[in-house]
Amino acid sequence: FVDIRHAQKAYGDLEVLKDISLTVDRGEIVAIIGPSGSGKSTLLRAINDLDSLTGGEVWLDGVQINKDLPYRQYEKHINAMRQQVGMVFQHFNLFPHLSVRDNVTMAPKLLKGLSDKEADKLAEEQLNHVGMLERIDYYPSQLSGGQKQRVAIARALAMQPKLMLFDEATSALDPELVEEVNLVMKRLAEEHMTMIIVTHEMDFAASVCDRVIFMDKGVVVEQGPPSVVFQNPTEERTKEFLRKHL
Ligand code: ATP
Ligand code: MG
Repeated sequence: FVDIRHAQKAYGDLEVLKDISLTVDRGEIVAIIGPSGSGKSTLLRAINDLDSLTGGEVWLDGVQINKDLPYRQYEKHINAMRQQVGMVFQHFNLFPHLSVRDNVTMAPKLLKGLSDKEADKLAEEQLNHVGMLERIDYYPSQLSGGQKQRVAIARALAMQPKLMLFDEATSALDPELVEEVNLVMKRLAEEHMTMIIVTHEMDFAASVCDRVIFMDKGVVVEQGPPSVVFQNPTEERTKEFLRKHL
């Protein structure tokens, strides 16, 4: 469903991704773990070409995302592809000057041509889903970090994506707010949303994800079910990382 083939990324002489190949099945929940600077965010951003690869291909549901096309055609193509991929980052990227409602309805109206009424209905459904319906007329500055992240998730879901990417969505939150966001992600997992989750939370990865991928220095060192990677890793680098983080 997601197919990354020989992904390479270099900044000058610095090779950040070194020939990474991996696939994610439809409905699969995958965690990516690894030390700081190992290339996790770069890989995630390469999926919807926010960071362009210097080599390799990314495919989603049978379509190549990073196709070689003339500029104008590429813009059109990548915008269509990005609509299918929801992304939630560490730092709440809500539009501060827009209400919660407008944050969620903007893309469906602009990109999918929904009417105000249709978009409102969708926003209400999605906000209800993340427990934020009663805050629909608030502004981001009036919300806690956990509430902002839940709105960010609702906003991504309003585009009805095929794939959700999370890049340390909870790591900027106070500990007591982490759980409310994790619960929303757990619920999505139960609904079989395909998700790739970069996280430092090993407990969360172990309880929610079907597979854990350990990256270090731009390569996939080891991957497998959480029970294996966490309890019985084969690679020394994985063991060392887990000693520090479990
Ligand atoms: P963290 O856990 O700290 O978020 P990460 O695994 O997400 O780390 P990346 O953000 O993917 O790591 O960065 C991988 C490497 O790429 C780092 O060494 C970083 O310095 C480098 N890098 C990222 N963006 C750029 C850039 N625009 N120019 C040069 N180097 C970059
Ligand atoms: Mg990162």
